[in-house]
Amino acid sequence: MSFDFDGYFAGALDRLKADGDYRVFADLRRHRGGFPAATQHVAGQERDVTIWCSNDYLGMGQHPAVLEAMHRALDRYGAGAGGTRNISGTTHEHVLLEAELADLHGKEAALLFTSGYVSNWAALGTLAAKVPGMVVLSDALNHASMIEGIRHSRAKCLVWKHNDLADLEVKLQTLPADVPKMIAFESVYSMDGDIAPIAEICDLADRYGAMTYLDEVHAVGLYGPRGGGIAERQGLAHRLTVIEGTLGKAYGVVGGYIAASAALCDFIRSFASGFIFTTALPPAVVAGARASIAHLKVSAAEREAHRAVVAEVRARLDVIGIPHLPNLSHIIPVIVGDPLKCRYISDLLLRDHGIYIQPINYPTVPRGTERLRITPSPLHGPKEVEALVNALGDLWAQCQLARLPMAAQ
Ligand SMILES: *Cc1c(COP(=O)(O)O)cnc(C)c1O
Repeated sequence: MSFDFDGYFAGALDRLKADGDYRVFADLRRHRGGFPAATQHVAGQERDVTIWCSNDYLGMGQHPAVLEAMHRALDRYGAGAGGTRNISGTTHEHVLLEAELADLHGKEAALLFTSGYVSNWAALGTLAAKVPGMVVLSDALNHASMIEGIRHSRAKCLVWKHNDLADLEVKLQTLPADVPKMIAFESVYSMDGDIAPIAEICDLADRYGAMTYLDEVHAVGLYGPRGGGIAERQGLAHRLTVIEGTLGKAYGVVGGYIAASAALCDFIRSFASGFIFTTALPPAVVAGARASIAHLKVSAAEREAHRAVVAEVRARLDVIGIPHLPNLSHIIPVIVGDPLKCRYISDLLLRDHGIYIQPINYPTVPRGTERLRITPSPLHGPKEVEALVNALGDLWAQCQLARLPMAAQ
């Protein structure tokens, strides 16, 4: 008898469902000009919902300057790039965007990829595989794309405790001085929203002769006077060997990149399979991303409004005692700590309150830390904030979830 493939798939999915880790996507239509409002399609019906978990942190995905640039590029150049960058896919839009990105981070050069995931996978994988004897020192909470790139390289990897400088130094001390080393970490960690001690990590890198690779995916567009990320805000961009970012989150479009020295970017361009053998981003996407970056370089209004809404949501959650991780970023994780409860609360929020917050369960976060990850934007007004806080308050009572003791209930 031959192998029952579908039976195997169904069994694996059943186990996922029993654990509460099975993922259900909300089927939405976002409305240009109406974000965070959307229409959900469910069981043949439509209903209005408010999105509270988007990584389009500033609503740039509907910004007029971005849409206009995309329309114009589409009308001028057509739909696709027409090939890989090596085989006719490099357009003048790609060249201009790379120059914009190099300038954003104060680096000599930048290199575009089809997503942030691919940029991490390809750049880390290539550096770790091609530099002879390279050892990677990887923060324990690094994103899956970084871990996959490092794994794929087959280079030696030492995982240091999350944001723990003492542990990083202990690991660095085990390596001979002449071994090439790379410290790979993030600035704002996507699930806890905490921020790395970048200056101190650069100090250690200098002391032990390591290069540094910083994922600023959750910071570009959002921090720094020109949106260059946490490194820009702290005046540290020049100390990092590689800064990696996405065009899909705060910039509201899609794509990924690294910014670094001209030699390093040329090296990745020349040796990274994930750069070489895939069709280039469409010119309209590239033009939209460039318009978004250019806008956020000179406009701080979106960043300021964003910070204000984040502070308001945190303060309102504190008033009703709903515990959230006290980080210094824009990400508000409300820990539920149980996958089934997390899924259940998310379902009720959507069904009874029209509030969409995707539950974040294993393997995205460790088991026992399942959470609602709330991401306010400048476009969430007082009415939406009020509705969110009231709904969470109701559900916390209904599900008898723990509150902070100091809360005025
Ligand atoms: C989302 C994410 C990425 C991948 O970026 P995409 O452009 O979405 O592929 C990389 N790193 C981190 C930390 C992320 O959260």
